[in-house]
Amino acid sequence: MNKEEMNKKYEHIYNKACEYLDNEFSKNICDFKNDKCGEKRNMKSCVGCCRKYKNKLLGPFAIGDNWKDCEYLENKKCSVKNIGCKLFTCDYLHSKGIKFKIKDIPVLQEFNLIQKIIIKSKVQAPQEVVIKKLLFWRNRNIYLILLILVIIMFLYFF
Ligand code: SF4
Ligand code: SF4
Repeated sequence: MNKEEMNKKYEHIYNKACEYLDNEFSKNICDFKNDKCGEKRNMKSCVGCCRKYKNKLLGPFAIGDNWKDCEYLENKKCSVKNIGCKLFTCDYLHSKGIKFKIKDIPVLQEFNLIQKIIIKSKVQAPQEVVIKKLLFWRNRNIYLILLILVIIMFLYFF
């Protein structure tokens, strides 16, 4: 399969996984009422989990209000597709026993370990950015294994 065909295949898988997760969230598992989700019910903010740190370096240790809305949040909706974001479940959802994992979504089993890590960790980014990374790492499991071996050898001998 050439790169263009792989790109189309990945787009298809990506969309299927998004559809699955969108369908789960469409059941109002976040318990939105008056524009506030369950997690934010008694808080000032109306923005559920679509926020990021202003100061990325210091993160939770920065002084003052270190939060800003995600740039892809438009009119209270996400303007991009991101599986990592859709997989996120907060404490409120955990308290309801809801957690989404890559291993529970059959279409995502097509991807190798590194690609799964990318899917999970590359949040707050458009679909095309994630797919570009997935394409780059499609046959690179072996490189990761080699890298781990080198690190282990380095730690062992030095
Ligand atoms: S995942 Fe949690 S924080 Fe995000 S919208 Fe749902 S209830 Fe709110
Ligand atoms: S990219 Fe993620 S954090 Fe940003 S608006 Fe979309 S779902 Fe929310």
